[in-house]
Amino acid sequence: MARYIGSVCALCRREGLKLYLKGERCYTPKCAIERRNYPPGQHGQGRKRETEYGIHLREKQKLRRIYGVLERQFRRYYEKAARQRGITGVALLQALEMRLDNVVYRLGIASSRPQARQLVRHGHIAVNGKKVSIPSYEVRPGDVVSVREGSRELAVIKQNVEAARGRGVPEWLELSSDGYEGRVLAKPTREQISDVPVQENLIVEFYSR
Ligand code: SF4
Repeated sequence: MARYIGSVCALCRREGLKLYLKGERCYTPKCAIERRNYPPGQHGQGRKRETEYGIHLREKQKLRRIYGVLERQFRRYYEKAARQRGITGVALLQALEMRLDNVVYRLGIASSRPQARQLVRHGHIAVNGKKVSIPSYEVRPGDVVSVREGSRELAVIKQNVEAARGRGVPEWLELSSDGYEGRVLAKPTREQISDVPVQENLIVEFYSR
């Protein structure tokens, strides 16, 4: 499966905001946005000319990068959302939130979405008791996502679970008391994903041009 292997901080700098792709570092003064909040590259500090197309494109790229999804797969999410009833932009966000790697991150088992993706890929995560190593796996309401028994002693997971203790999880998820298991209660509403700073209507307009 193809994935982005460049600098993740460059993605934040390109979008001009924190996408929280590096876990704890994102909350420290070492964060690249704190130090160099302008686009990367030779012309990063040059004059900005935002066309309407550019604004729509940036919004789409921002959302894609928050969830770490490549273009082709992102378009598939959009097309599926467009076929559904209701508001396409919200359906798109819901589909991204229901990815297994995102749920692992939301439960506090991983400190960032990229780390969650790695934990899933390395076989540390189970859904309804069965190992699932596909980060894009779509969870459903009622599913139980857990750290597999043999992986609970892993230092990085223990550290994350410990750090997340008491922080709480979004209302559409329920976390077990030990922090190693969570249940998906429902699909999130737009209000429950208000920490995702995008205008999804611009993304819909981008694809329906
Ligand atoms: Fe983005 Fe985190 Fe890097 Fe800051 S430290 S630029 S928030 S990935």
